[in-house]
Amino acid sequence: MTTNPSPISLSGITNLRSCIEWAKENGVAIGHFNISNLETLRAIVTTAKELNVPVIIGVSEGERDAVGVSMARAMVASIAFELGHPIFLNADHTYSLERVKQAIDAGYDSVIIDAAKLSKEENIELTKKSVEYAKQVEALTGQDTLIEGELGYIGQSSKVMDKIPDGVGLDPASLTQPAEVAEFVAATGIDLIAPAVGNVHGLIKGGNPKLNIERIAEIAKASPAGVVLHGASGIELSDLKAAVAAGVRIVHYNTELRVAFSAALAQFIKDNPEETTPYKLTKTAIDAVAAVVEEKLRIMNKMI
Ligand SMILES: [Zn+2]
Repeated sequence: MTTNPSPISLSGITNLRSCIEWAKENGVAIGHFNISNLETLRAIVTTAKELNVPVIIGVSEGERDAVGVSMARAMVASIAFELGHPIFLNADHTYSLERVKQAIDAGYDSVIIDAAKLSKEENIELTKKSVEYAKQVEALTGQDTLIEGELGYIGQSSKVMDKIPDGVGLDPASLTQPAEVAEFVAATGIDLIAPAVGNVHGLIKGGNPKLNIERIAEIAKASPAGVVLHGASGIELSDLKAAVAAGVRIVHYNTELRVAFSAALAQFIKDNPEETTPYKLTKTAIDAVAAVVEEKLRIMNKMI
């Protein structure tokens, strides 16, 4: 059972846009955690509720297909209502305009159009079209969907890997440049930006690289859009703390949760081969995910 909730009031948070403003005003970051089942969702949201901090649930294209695009929306809306707590839903890494439209139509709070692997011109074009669609829907229905763009390649895997993936550069020249960010935000109209600042998707055996905190601070200063840190699994907690202090407003975790869930589940099945009730099988896995989520949320919300 979690104790010592955050003393920061959540009043004024009415949607994801106001939640990001709230994070900015309080100098904190909102935790973004991916799910592909109900157990992980429960682990995340009950921890966020106990700590009195908002949270974002992420579903990648693959995770959306596993859960169901509308089912994910219904699950998150239902549990947010049940707990009376600010819990938002993001369509994580989305690679086509069709899938951006699908998530907006399903009522997601935000969508990431990930065109970082395309040329800069193509990235701007596809990102701009995603923003335009969100605005069209807003004009018709009033639904406010935030669009996040990606600038700089940080890999695409949420697995444990032997080495840094091909195409990911860590030297200052390969990282996202602050001036580029300002240009990209102005050209596309995005609300959120995911830069490459030494972060890598997935867990690297032997440790993930250090973040470039100075570059994060420069980008946060240059960007009118909120800065999002992807691929936080495996980064040192001192780096996470420094990244939030440097101006990151959303931090993404996926792989560490998957590792915690599967390791606890495998151990439980090994120790209890007679158990067949699904909710009993997954109890320790839920607790393992909750412990990871609690540690990260405490740091992001200045509680440690
Ligand atoms: Zn990501």
